[in-house]
Amino acid sequence: MLGALLDLVVPQSCVGCGSSGARLCQACLVVEPAVRTPVPGPPGLPPCWSAAAYEGPLRRAVVAYKERGESALAGPLADALAYTLARAVPCGGVWLVPVPSSRRASRGRGHDPVGRVARLAVRRLRGLGWDVAVLPVLEQVRRVADQAGLSATQRAANLASSLRVAPALRGAHGRPAVLVDDIVTTGATLAEGARALRVAGFAVPAAVTVAATRRRSCR
Ligand SMILES: [Zn+2]
Repeated sequence: MLGALLDLVVPQSCVGCGSSGARLCQACLVVEPAVRTPVPGPPGLPPCWSAAAYEGPLRRAVVAYKERGESALAGPLADALAYTLARAVPCGGVWLVPVPSSRRASRGRGHDPVGRVARLAVRRLRGLGWDVAVLPVLEQVRRVADQAGLSATQRAANLASSLRVAPALRGAHGRPAVLVDDIVTTGATLAEGARALRVAGFAVPAAVTVAATRRRSCR
């Protein structure tokens, strides 16, 4: 009843097809977990699993969630991530380490989009008996420039040594760490995250993202 009333006040339509109801309907949430590691990728990049290519309804959903803070999309995106994680690490027993938003971006948007989706995905998986937990150990050491418009080489240089494992959490070993992010493009961010985790003693068997950009060139 309350939900129906709220729908009258705030009508919702799918970002993919415009049908009324969920902000991303079941028909538009196409999830096809696969390894979509960028080629060529930066050194040290772990295998990159993603739920789907970064296009169509999923792309619109990621943009609306990340850039406009549309919290109604956190659930469907977490479903996509959880399903992909279950394929990427079928035995569980791992930490999920979200890539931190840059401080400026996070403040501007007023939320931590990747961390929130990771926590929701873990809740789904734990409910199904999976042994996974979020370990938000990565932090930014310095400001980095906006990655948009940079080539793969420029992105790698921009991000070099920009992340570290928070000193207070360096003892949290014993489990491999799986990196989590929203999108993989060149792999520069995930390679930097994997480097920082390995320096702190973690094994990094995989990275998992909601979507993977199809690259048009091999720069
Ligand atoms: Zn739809």
